[in-house]
Formats: sequence, C-alpha cells, structure tokens
Amino acid sequence: MKGSCLCGKVRFSLDQKAKLFQYCHCSRCQKITGSAFAANLYADPASFKWLEGEELVGRYEVPDAKYFATGFCKNCGSSLPWLAKGGRSVVIPAGSFDEDPGLRPKQNTFWADKACWYEEPASLPCYKALPERKS
Ligand SMILES: [Zn+2]
Ligand SMILES: [Zn+2]
Repeated sequence: MKGSCLCGKVRFSLDQKAKLFQYCHCSRCQKITGSAFAANLYADPASFKWLEGEELVGRYEVPDAKYFATGFCKNCGSSLPWLAKGGRSVVIPAGSFDEDPGLRPKQNTFWADKACWYEEPASLPCYKALPERKS
C-alpha cells in the first residue's frame, strides 16, 4: 500500500496491513490536524519504508509526551507517518494513503477530550460535492 503528501515529493509504502486503525480526539491531535480528530493507523515499523523524499520529512516531538510526535512534509505541510517515541509503531495518518489501507476504524480514543463543536458527520446534510449556490 502506498501513500504520499499533497505536493507528491514524499512517498512511502507499507508492505503489511496495519495492526490498528482508530480515531483520536485528544487535544494534540486536534491541533496537529486542525480538525476534530486524527484518523491514524498503527503499523509495524519493519513493514514501512520511505520511497521518495525522506529528506523532506519533518518531525516534531512534544516534550512531555510519552509516545506522541508528528510527521509532516517540509514542502507542503501535509501530515505524514511518524515513528512513535519508543519505536514500537509507525503511526500513519489515514488520509496520507493513496489507496485503501485495508482495514476500518475500530474505536474513538480520548472521547472525553473531543472538540465541543464536534457533530457526528452522518447527522449533517450530505452533498456529493459542494452544495448548489443560492443566488
Ligand atoms: Zn509535500
Ligand atoms: Zn491524539
């Protein structure tokens, strides 16, 4: 399974299916995604490799975090996979995959910390693309 950033300069591959897929609603994940939650897959570091642009991959470690860090493209700012502190898992933002990662989210973590404005997406009106403009 392959993935990349928005500008396409960084590419990676994962040879084996990830172990876990979950949504994390913690305050750090809200900050790093700029959104309600992070959709992350957890994979064996041995099955992960950078194919292109590894020199453009940035990393930020939150000083007091046990596992949390972030990965991003220095050119376009997209979130990218990062090795958890301790090195046991590589955490892959689901949106960075270019194809179906082969598993589905299993749970919400840090639900107690979810954004106060979060609404279940399925409870909102759905449009195939943008809604038609009202003139
Ligand atoms: Zn990029
Ligand atoms: Zn989180």
